Amino acid sequence: MLRGAQGTAVARKECPGFRSRLSRLARGMIRGHGTGVAAPPGCRIPILPDPELPIMRLALSTVLLVLSAGLAHAGSGVNAFPPAPAPLTSPVPAAAQPKATTTPPHARPVTTPGLSEPKLKLAKIQGSAGRTGPRVALTFDACSGKTDQRIFSTLVENRIPATIFATARWIRHNPDAVAVLKANPDLFEVENHGAMHVPAVDKPAMVYGIPAAGSPEAVTAEVTGGANAIEAAGFAAPHWFRGATARYNSGAMAEISGLGFRVAGYSLNGDDGASVSAATAEKRLSGAKDGSVIIAHINQPDRPAGEGVARGILALKARGAFFVKLSDAAEEPVTAAVR
Ligand SMILES: [Zn+2]
Repeated sequence: MLRGAQGTAVARKECPGFRSRLSRLARGMIRGHGTGVAAPPGCRIPILPDPELPIMRLALSTVLLVLSAGLAHAGSGVNAFPPAPAPLTSPVPAAAQPKATTTPPHARPVTTPGLSEPKLKLAKIQGSAGRTGPRVALTFDACSGKTDQRIFSTLVENRIPATIFATARWIRHNPDAVAVLKANPDLFEVENHGAMHVPAVDKPAMVYGIPAAGSPEAVTAEVTGGANAIEAAGFAAPHWFRGATARYNSGAMAEISGLGFRVAGYSLNGDDGASVSAATAEKRLSGAKDGSVIIAHINQPDRPAGEGVARGILALKARGAFFVKLSDAAEEPVTAAVR
């Protein structure tokens, strides 16, 4: 019912011609020619029976898809942070997730606009110095959660040095592993992976699905909170910082160096956040080149990747690799680049 000019009720009826026009319009929208149409006076808008209804829904979906694709394309060239509320996003590396999922998040890192992932390699040393294999630095992130004894015991039993990037959270929840680290200062150095494992990005952003620190103050709290926990646990003061996800924006990079830390990149990703298969992790590590700084995760004992990481370490040892800690390498010229 609707009201006429004098306020009297006017009955609307279904008009076959209008219904037919609407039906044709639905099909026309699918071909990209749809326009609006008004109901003639006295005609009600008909309820289209199948198959028209699905067609109209499809037409609407098509319009929405085209609209959203256009928006995504419009944002693809942005090289700085978009204004709020649009967050930066990228897939979640498995080891960085608060809870394990059954689906590996990604096989390859995806570039996140506005963020950089610093690269770090050991400097070439002239002459082989009696070495037959590559000179490499093993670095392991201990984001949160537990300790992967497959990797940890391989390092200890084979007397292979490594650098552990630990968060305050991991230190708090792994007292036994901390005791082993402290008992083997010749093998291990503990460096700063932050307080709460939030990405060191000083603007609102999502990195691998994790909310970033979001402000300079929060980046500072993440860095200093991690360092304080390491010292409070009885380790030497850290000199290197690697943020959660190992991605940063330029502001955070400046804040980190302003606090006296070097940003610890890497040159070989051994396990993609503990998400790869054991065979893949083994192949990656065992293929390390001279000067490689290898990143892998030592906090995911329930995933297959760690088994492959342990095998890859032994394969490197069998190749005659010479393992160094980052602090040892830092005494040599170290190259770092942003890619
Ligand atoms: Zn981490």
